[in-house]
Amino acid sequence: MGVFVKLINVFVILGIALASVVVPPQNLMTARADVFGPYTADSGPFADNYIHTWCEGRANYIPIWRDSMQDAMDYLDAQTDMTTGTPHQCNDSIDIWYDVFDSSVLGLDVRGSTTCRVAMTPDGVCGSTQIKMNSTLLTTYMARRKTACHEIGHTVGLTHSFGYSTSSDCMISGDYTLTFLNTHHVEHINSRY
Ligand SMILES: [Zn+2]
Repeated sequence: MGVFVKLINVFVILGIALASVVVPPQNLMTARADVFGPYTADSGPFADNYIHTWCEGRANYIPIWRDSMQDAMDYLDAQTDMTTGTPHQCNDSIDIWYDVFDSSVLGLDVRGSTTCRVAMTPDGVCGSTQIKMNSTLLTTYMARRKTACHEIGHTVGLTHSFGYSTSSDCMISGDYTLTFLNTHHVEHINSRY
């Protein structure tokens, strides 16, 4: 924060001379941390609003798949300003269409994926995403819960975590059992939804 405050002071001091090139403080702060939406190489699209619904794309999921997703959605609801809930019927307005495939479909190294199912708006809002989870690789509750948290994060615009993570941060890629969002990512979410 000290550096940030000093930068603001510099901009104030030089405000007249640099009026045409000064970066707004909020954008400067965001750029120094990480990307938040919409759909860059590492981030997901923005969701359309704070109500984040989901459905099970295949009927009769066994509880090990439904529960990890439900628990991760409940966590998003509890930890951020977003509202989730229990599964709905699948349709094109559902926010997350949730499905499970094995490595023969997803690839040997892909634990999960997030894609936009519908046409994205020019400003990067996707009204319906698909999360695919890999049943070959995700063999424990904690692995499924971590990947659910990670892919859900992408569906609201989050990118991957690198150096600035806290100790339990599901936006790190790979084989971990970290099921929380870091506070910076929670602030991203609450700033928009
Ligand atoms: Zn990812």
